[in-house]
Amino acid sequence: MRKARVLLLLLLFSLLFTACADTGTTFLYEKGEHNHVFGNRYDITPVSCIAEGTEVRYCKICHESVTETVPVPEDISVRRHAFSDTVIPPTESAEGYTRRACTVCEYVVERTDVIPARYALTPLEGAVTVAPDGVDGVLLSDTASHRLTYNVGDSLSVSPHLARRLAVALAITDELAREGTAFSAETLVPLISGAGNGNRYTVHALVLEWIATGDVHVLNGLAFALDGSEGGFQARVNERLKRLGVEGAVTVDVFAAEGEGKATLGATAVMLARALDEPLLCEAFSESVPNLQQIVGQKPVLYLALGNLRVAGILKNGVCYFSLLCGESIPIGVENAVFSHE
Ligand SMILES: [Zn+2]
Ligand SMILES: [Zn+2]
Repeated sequence: MRKARVLLLLLLFSLLFTACADTGTTFLYEKGEHNHVFGNRYDITPVSCIAEGTEVRYCKICHESVTETVPVPEDISVRRHAFSDTVIPPTESAEGYTRRACTVCEYVVERTDVIPARYALTPLEGAVTVAPDGVDGVLLSDTASHRLTYNVGDSLSVSPHLARRLAVALAITDELAREGTAFSAETLVPLISGAGNGNRYTVHALVLEWIATGDVHVLNGLAFALDGSEGGFQARVNERLKRLGVEGAVTVDVFAAEGEGKATLGATAVMLARALDEPLLCEAFSESVPNLQQIVGQKPVLYLALGNLRVAGILKNGVCYFSLLCGESIPIGVENAVFSHE
């Protein structure tokens, strides 16, 4: 019995070896049968987002190949696209993003790598959300990060005095920056009404005066020099507000009496953030700070109280931290607490 088993084993081995010697292939079973062991898949024609592909696999034992078709996935988002990226930079009011579009089919991933609009004031996690006593709303941000470290009452209605001054000032600095304009800060502009009627002043001097006083005669001079009419200048201002993305939250007829129109605390803050990017307006703000005004032991670069709104700003390492407070009787010096929080 034992002998027979040994013989059978020997026979099997010899079969195995002769087969290999003949064909160079290793057979595991007597009749050359085995379960194929397929290896990696190789593309013959890679599947694309519009056409099925084919791929091949080889048996690790006998090298027999099988070819299979690879269908285009039902779900367009997981298909193998040939993407090309277009970077859309942020504007003043619209976020920037990358548009990924397939160059083969129509598939588009509209927004990846989204970054906020340039002057969006974005709430910071952990921002203070309780206003100090005597204050209804308070926003604190800075010109570097545009993050709100104090964030109360963003949508509160506030008196539009500051929005009016900023709207006009932004329309003018916009013109000064426009390529091909005839206006510079040194251009002489005649006043056409008020005490200075007939006198000529530089745009620079008039902008400083405008920020400090909101004097309609200054506005008349600038508006007529730029556009020749109230309507033309108002349209310029409206266009400027629209580009900044605040046209829904701010409505100011710049020629109407101060205090007419509407503005929210948040939109006014966005306008201020934009204005603080203009060296001429920074200069105008700092010229109008009362002499004895101090916040956290330093002279602010910005301090204006207009209607129920008070704005202040201090410089730290070249960055302006600015606050907007609204309330009917804002306590003196409350900025000390707001700024020392930062
Ligand atoms: Zn095989
Ligand atoms: Zn595609």
